Amino acid sequence: MPDLNLVVAEIADEMRQRRDRGTVAHYIPELARVDPKHFGIAVVAADGTVATGGDAAMPFSIQSISKVFTLTLALGRYGDRLWRRVGREPSGSPFNSIVQLEREQGIPRNPFINAGAIAVTDLILSGHQPREALGEILSFMRFLADDADISIDETVAASEQRTGFRNAALANYMKSFGVLENPVDLTLGVYFHQCAIAMSCQQLAMAGRFLAQSGRNPSTGLQVIQPERARRINAVMLTCGHYDGSGEFAYRVGLPGKSGVGGGILAVAPGKASIAVWSPGLDAAGNSHLGRVALEALSRRMDWSIFGA
Ligand code: GLN
Repeated sequence: MPDLNLVVAEIADEMRQRRDRGTVAHYIPELARVDPKHFGIAVVAADGTVATGGDAAMPFSIQSISKVFTLTLALGRYGDRLWRRVGREPSGSPFNSIVQLEREQGIPRNPFINAGAIAVTDLILSGHQPREALGEILSFMRFLADDADISIDETVAASEQRTGFRNAALANYMKSFGVLENPVDLTLGVYFHQCAIAMSCQQLAMAGRFLAQSGRNPSTGLQVIQPERARRINAVMLTCGHYDGSGEFAYRVGLPGKSGVGGGILAVAPGKASIAVWSPGLDAAGNSHLGRVALEALSRRMDWSIFGA
């Protein structure tokens, strides 16, 4: 077995030298200010070994990676009834696309495109005040990461709240089909804030451990979710986690993964490791360019692809 610490150090070094960095997200003004030169990587192996490189301790905006955790929470509360509200097929379209929603009667294709994630957040909000729903999401992140030092970047949330017209359109459209239960502005408020959670690669890789370990949180030994559910969330991450770049990600990296427009990716090597990478520059599908390159190198060198050696 190759030495994990060595491989991670090599990759961090290689990524530092790359010039092809993609472009940072501009449609959320606050994210446009992030320096594209950052690169971070953290790997938490099944035996508890932690290997980090680059800016692994620097917090960044997790954005759509939050959707994995809200899906987990909502499945816990509603079980398989959740799938009446949102599908689980890849969309083959951009994360903020509106056309598919009309054709499919307001039911989003999957929980990871924006419409689907807004529908999931709406479920978490039902029966609660926005503040309680957000508190639940944040406590869940802290519990999973075993780290109380995780918070919401209010500046990023406000920045998206001011400019999130597309998400407002998606939410209003779903509301017209009766897919959302709560007032649109409240659901969107929770959604923008969950996206604005700031975490480092280290914290994120820790938070993802339960997906790599059949639903178990190794810090407490407690089962967060049943093994079957962890397996299924991983399946949705593999097929839908990178929007219309999901096929390419599976082809190159071979691991379930979820990206965010902040430039982070959480990837899962089942039974082996939870991995977080961060590089703010994105490719055309809105996924971290160097994040994907780094994961491709890691999965190849560690022989972690779920599709075989
Ligand atoms: N908050 C972002 C949005 O709704 C999340 C998108 C993403 O990370 N792909 O547009």
